[in-house]
Amino acid sequence: MSVPESIESPQPAVTLVYTDVNVVPEHERNELENSISNLEGEVLELKSTLKSLDEKRREVLNKIIDTKGSIRVFCRVRPFLVTERRPIREPVSFGPDNVVVRSAGTRKDFEFDKVFHQSATQEDVFGEVKPILRSALDGHNVCVLAYGQTGTGKTFTMDGTNEQPGLAPRAIKELFNEASTDHTHSVTFTMSMLEIYMGNLKDLLSARQSLKSYETSAKCNLNIQVDSKGSVEIEGLTEVEVPDFTKARWWYNKGRRGRSTSWTNVNETSSRSHCLTRITIFRRGDAVGSKTEVSKLWMIDLGGSERLLKTGAIGQTMDEGRAINLSLSALGDVIAALRRKKGHVPYRNSKLTQILKDSLGTKSKVLMLVHISPRDVDVGETICSLSFTKRARSIESNRGLTAELQKLREKKISELEEEMQETQENCKKITARLQEVECQLNENKKLFWITNENKHLEDIEKKAILPLDNLKETDATLKSSDKHVKVSKSSGFVPRFMTSTVASRQRQTMSEKELSAKTQSIRSVAKNLTHFSTSQQSLSLSDTRSRVLLRKSYTKPLRAAANCGTPETPKRDIKDNSLQKKNVNDTSSPRKKMVTSSDPNVRAKLCHHRRRMSSLT
Ligand code: ADP
Ligand code: MG
Repeated sequence: MSVPESIESPQPAVTLVYTDVNVVPEHERNELENSISNLEGEVLELKSTLKSLDEKRREVLNKIIDTKGSIRVFCRVRPFLVTERRPIREPVSFGPDNVVVRSAGTRKDFEFDKVFHQSATQEDVFGEVKPILRSALDGHNVCVLAYGQTGTGKTFTMDGTNEQPGLAPRAIKELFNEASTDHTHSVTFTMSMLEIYMGNLKDLLSARQSLKSYETSAKCNLNIQVDSKGSVEIEGLTEVEVPDFTKARWWYNKGRRGRSTSWTNVNETSSRSHCLTRITIFRRGDAVGSKTEVSKLWMIDLGGSERLLKTGAIGQTMDEGRAINLSLSALGDVIAALRRKKGHVPYRNSKLTQILKDSLGTKSKVLMLVHISPRDVDVGETICSLSFTKRARSIESNRGLTAELQKLREKKISELEEEMQETQENCKKITARLQEVECQLNENKKLFWITNENKHLEDIEKKAILPLDNLKETDATLKSSDKHVKVSKSSGFVPRFMTSTVASRQRQTMSEKELSAKTQSIRSVAKNLTHFSTSQQSLSLSDTRSRVLLRKSYTKPLRAAANCGTPETPKRDIKDNSLQKKNVNDTSSPRKKMVTSSDPNVRAKLCHHRRRMSSLT
């Protein structure tokens, strides 16, 4: 009779071999089955709820971004550096969303979606950018552009330092974080980096990018292609898969090192080129047949926007500067053209605007971060940069609203944000429940698999040893062998040629009498047993079920011995001679599970072994 037993606490080895271990009673197995199907149902339901919540979240977020403006302009004011003299009357003053510049008796006021004061931290800036990243994960193309005069902190904002990482590394980290909590989609990322310098493109992640100057890197020129859907691709641009943040950061640093700089007397480390980092997001729903959504996140550190005479730059740098200014104004034109849905209006088609064409459209989100200097000597450049942003901001139709409309807009935003928070909280709750249920389901499946396997093996075993049952009581005696053979014969389960004959019975009686004189036989049997133990082939185990059964028989004591629930490999089982010998030699056992099989050939040999063993005891 089987003894139900917890799989966590196996019996000692010997007991395990001869009892029906790890078998869960029928009704409990049924319960387990029911529980599994219930949990599976709940998982499906939760996933579907999560999917609709996610859709709602996407929708609300999109409304928030659009109400706030899908082209948003922030301003960041660099703090005074230790080397800089602070003027008595600072030319730039600011409120939460406006900047006032006083110069030569004039006062100019500029409005922004957000102003970051000198004391603002990298976290503060990132906090405002974060929602737009979620939008990128939701399938929108997103552009974050830092621009402004050289030395105002564009690179500090985008790249940062090791101690104060900037937007790009934080954004990449955030994308991985967000992707890991998405339970209804699988999200993967690739990264590309390039530099635009005097109208040329340079692949920053290419193995060839060690080439220093653009004259020698003509081969690096990349072609900008637009497919039938309007999606821009840069032919030949290196695109690396980034499986995790560490790898992504490694590639990002490699790209940054490859950025070429030339020197001006404004800022030693200023760059005259645009540095573009592209993260391509591939997001696919878990449901069968789901399509992969592809979106791009561009993070761009533009070259200095200052007018050239101020920098004192000459020669090549002049041209670069001109190219940069053209790029900036072209960018404004493109945004204006796309936002006003005027279709293809003429604009200066710089390399930058060609590349960003599909990321500046109606469905994309654009964030401009204008950087300004607090110094009085830079006032002219500050006004120039701020005026440019005025143009960019004017693209949004919801600018320049009356105070009343502005109030209504703010109310709508705060309502949407509340809705968003509620949806996110629900998402969190459902996700937590989903994880719990999935964990429970896995446990139950594991348990079911184990019990089912045992049940299957028990069934095979029962079927196989049914005619041999009587062996249980009389296995150790020669008579029992005879009896067993008879039963087998009557049942017709064992082939006729395997049943004992008169001659064999006589031989058996003989051997019983002559037991003490048979040391030679003992050796021979021992040899046979060893042979049996070490070689399945010697038993012609063509029946896979027999193999399984044998393996199982060996596994149980091994498992118990190791006090662990993981199945052993057949190889190891078979090789564990000491254990097998222990089982085989344990003649006090009522049933030798180890040597039962449904394979008649196997059984014949096993019976043969039994008889010979019996004769020796
Ligand atoms: P840009 O890229 O616009 O030429 P940088 O990012 O190189 O300017 O900044 C110029 C200098 O000012 C750097 O030494 C940088 O560390 C410092 N800096 C810029 N912004 C900040 C800030 N918000 N806080 C502290 N230091 C800053
Ligand atoms: Mg820079």
